[in-house]
Amino acid sequence: MNGCLEVGLRLAQTGELMGRHGAAIFIADAPGLDFLNSVATPVDTVIDWIDDGEGLLSWLEQAQLVPTDVVKKIRAKTPAREIEKIADHARSLREWFRRFVLEHKGRPLALTDLTELEPLNRLLGRDEACYRMVLRPGGRPAAPELQIARRWSSPEALLLPIAEAVARLLCAEDFSNVRACEGPACTLLFADHTRGHVRRWCSMAICGNRAKQAAHRQRLKSSQHRRAPGGER
Ligand SMILES: [Zn+2]
Repeated sequence: MNGCLEVGLRLAQTGELMGRHGAAIFIADAPGLDFLNSVATPVDTVIDWIDDGEGLLSWLEQAQLVPTDVVKKIRAKTPAREIEKIADHARSLREWFRRFVLEHKGRPLALTDLTELEPLNRLLGRDEACYRMVLRPGGRPAAPELQIARRWSSPEALLLPIAEAVARLLCAEDFSNVRACEGPACTLLFADHTRGHVRRWCSMAICGNRAKQAAHRQRLKSSQHRRAPGGER
């Protein structure tokens, strides 16, 4: 298995964290694309990990975009219908951004493409991020590190780390490396950071092995056909 392909394959550790849909998929090697992959068909049924408010909370926690204690606090003090509305907003943002990525992937972004991104800038403008200094555990010598923190003063703030992940993708990723998995029925997207840019699959475990098995079956069929009486020689 190509280690590079598996770098982004990060699954949640506990059942509680995973929510009712189980572990979400994190294979994109870019959080902004993992957000698009929060709806996928890992086997033969479509799963939308953010199809409701609880799903959104669980996905944000699994993606490590919102700290667990913040998720717990928001869950405890926010009426469910309010979180449902935020999940609805997150799904709209996801599908709006998916259209942009599908249209522009595979080539560098042009300045004119950025004019389409005004809705994202409006969302970023609502951020109330602040800085704080923290000591990295085990850092020697102990030097403080500047980190961005959020105040999480309202449940709408759940959308802000998503907006940040999407904006970072747009600003830091070469869109030439943004690819769709070649699996025939797969909708997963990823950033190809392999040397030589040879990544073809969301992961070997999902589509790579399926393609290998299909190729093997095809070879077997061809050789049986050649051996059969009257077959091609
Ligand atoms: Zn795939």
